[in-house]
Amino acid sequence: MILDGKILKQEILNELKFEVSKLSKAPTLCVIQVGNDEASNVYIKQKENMCNFVGYNFLHQKFEENISERDLLDKIDILNNDKNIDAILVQMPLPKHINPKAIQNKVNFLKDVDGLNDKNIIALINNKDALKPCTACGVLELLDKYKISVEGVDVVIVGRSSLVGMPLFHMLENKNATVTLCHSKTKDLKEKTKTADILISAVGKKHLITNDMVKYNAVVIDVGITKENGKLYGDVDFESIRKKASFITPVPGGVGPMTIASLAKNILNSYKMQKGIK
Ligand code: NAP
Repeated sequence: MILDGKILKQEILNELKFEVSKLSKAPTLCVIQVGNDEASNVYIKQKENMCNFVGYNFLHQKFEENISERDLLDKIDILNNDKNIDAILVQMPLPKHINPKAIQNKVNFLKDVDGLNDKNIIALINNKDALKPCTACGVLELLDKYKISVEGVDVVIVGRSSLVGMPLFHMLENKNATVTLCHSKTKDLKEKTKTADILISAVGKKHLITNDMVKYNAVVIDVGITKENGKLYGDVDFESIRKKASFITPVPGGVGPMTIASLAKNILNSYKMQKGIK
């Protein structure tokens, strides 16, 4: 069965739109962009479209590629203190002369809708309320909406980035899954992936996960995106695995839309946390 992120995203956005229509003031997202990366422009447009649909205000602050780290930190400080801005997102990648961690830690953790401020990461690890990284939230929401239980289940994650693999590891562990985290130095990846009841790949290598690496009836979640000749591919060889898996996400149309849906939820959460609304 295909796990349809597009349909779920629309359901989530519809619910949020209704909730936002009842607020006295619409929440505001500010996206910070440094330079003019082509892929970033596309991702920012998707975020703007989502905000327009849900009823959030959308601000786009674009800075020159050569802005200094100090000046960018100062700009974020102004946004942190601006009561009219509820949520801040720094679009990655940043130019090489800027340390992304310094920037992520500068964003007020209550406005940090990417969930990448260390305060939010520590809260996530400790299973406390926090703004959590959108893609990891999207994966869990997808499993939850399709009633795929994770408790006591063997999960294998391929990829350990702070954006996807690492937060997923902790979030799933906190839900009592038994989680194995694999990476580029993992010995015999196939031996690990074949044990997975739920296999999640977040690497960015086209068709890294082949049929022989997947257990019969496994749930297969593909986070990876590789663009080749204008076409998008996942990490998973979808056509060869779809009949073997019990559930599988397509690329595109699986985890990608769920990331946007989770961002939309994080913006409202961020607003509520600052206003003390439960
Ligand atoms: P990343 O920071 O580059 O991390 C990639 C991870 O894959 C690393 O942990 C790396 O291991 C591991 N890896 C690389 N080659 C491997 C191999 N041959 N076998 C096993 N592990 C290997 O990337 P990311 O930001 O997590 O993103 C991963 C992919 O997901 C990308 O394609 C990205 O575009 C996509 N993505 C999609 C969404 C979405 O909404 N659908 C959101 C975010 C990211 P080491 O740690 O050892 O280097």
